Amino acid sequence: MLLLDEALALLKSVQYNLTTEVVGLHKAVGRILAQDVHSDMDMPPFDKASVDGYACRWADLEKPLQLIETVAAGAVPSQPVGPVQCTKIMTGAKVPEGADCVVMVEHTRLDAESKIVVEIRPKKSNIAKKAEDIRLGEVVLTKGTLLRPSHLAVAASVGANELIVARRPAVTIFSTGDELVAPHQTPADGQIRDANSSQLMALVQQMQLDPVFGGIIPDREAETESMMAKALQTSDVLLLSGGISMGDYDYVPKVLQRLGFSILFKSLAVQPGRPTVFASSGSQFILALPGNPVSSHNIFRLLGMPFLYHLMGHNYIAPVVKLPLAEDFSRKNTERQLFVPVRIEANGSIQPLDYHGSAHINALSEAHGLMSIAAGIKEIKAGEKADVRLF
Ligand code: AMP
Ligand code: MG
Repeated sequence: MLLLDEALALLKSVQYNLTTEVVGLHKAVGRILAQDVHSDMDMPPFDKASVDGYACRWADLEKPLQLIETVAAGAVPSQPVGPVQCTKIMTGAKVPEGADCVVMVEHTRLDAESKIVVEIRPKKSNIAKKAEDIRLGEVVLTKGTLLRPSHLAVAASVGANELIVARRPAVTIFSTGDELVAPHQTPADGQIRDANSSQLMALVQQMQLDPVFGGIIPDREAETESMMAKALQTSDVLLLSGGISMGDYDYVPKVLQRLGFSILFKSLAVQPGRPTVFASSGSQFILALPGNPVSSHNIFRLLGMPFLYHLMGHNYIAPVVKLPLAEDFSRKNTERQLFVPVRIEANGSIQPLDYHGSAHINALSEAHGLMSIAAGIKEIKAGEKADVRLF
């Protein structure tokens, strides 16, 4: 049994063939940046008013001020501000020469001679200084970044209208098992509906990838082989669930070896999720997850997601928070690292969810994350803190 951290390190050390493509900013969210982005300008590019008001000199704030012009955002001042003068200026407009502060319009009034009188002195200049956020040439986004909306605002600001990003690995998802029928079918006696493929498709889609569903592989060796072989003609990664345990009809490990894959691990010290197989052949990979839906969900998040990101050049580190338990938690078997679905309550405590076992799919429905209990730990008392990996 491999420890989770060992399996993760192994997955992140895998060599791969990163190719790239160019996308426009409106299509780039969730993609992995494959270049550094440099700024083509200072930001702000000029001393900029950060409020609507009057640009003037600190030294003149006690005196009635003569208005000399009005500058809209996008326009430039035509003249400098001299002693006891001011320029009316809008948020985002260029501050005139000579001015060293902007008084908010709501802190002024007009006197009888139409001069501007400052009623409340500004506490700060209300001027965003040229280049205070970003300097010309500075690296503003680095290779390997998982692009979030705010990164795209940065790219847009510095003129990076198109970005070089990692190509998305082609992922084919299979369920395995003679007991499975499609969701639209009514299971006969002894059958259940295939829950995993919908869950895995969605988990992969949430990474902005475009997985293909390859179908339900029956528990027969020949079909396991032919369906996997066909998918490998067009896939970088096969993601399977089920068919890897000790059952008489668990053919996946045997078949993938016959297809030329080497098994890098097949057992994890993680509960649920012990039977998990990872195999490689050149730059193609197979991750075969345990069949129970909670197990395959958890192991996909713990290992599949970081692995797929690794293939795109991103070092994915899950958000983990330490929060106090709402109630005592204990377990009998402490051999493996345990992951328990938990809800985070409004008061910030964690509530382990009622959970009968790894087939109990709806235990995840209300979960905000997975509480991790290290191997060897038997109990955690109410109020003590535990690690929660957030979804
Ligand atoms: P296996 O690893 O194939 O023995 O599967 C372990 C358990 O998970 C069995 O109870 C299976 O019926 C169940 N299971 C396997 N695949 C799925 C699936 N796609 N959807 C729901 N349950 C599944
Ligand atoms: Mg099975």
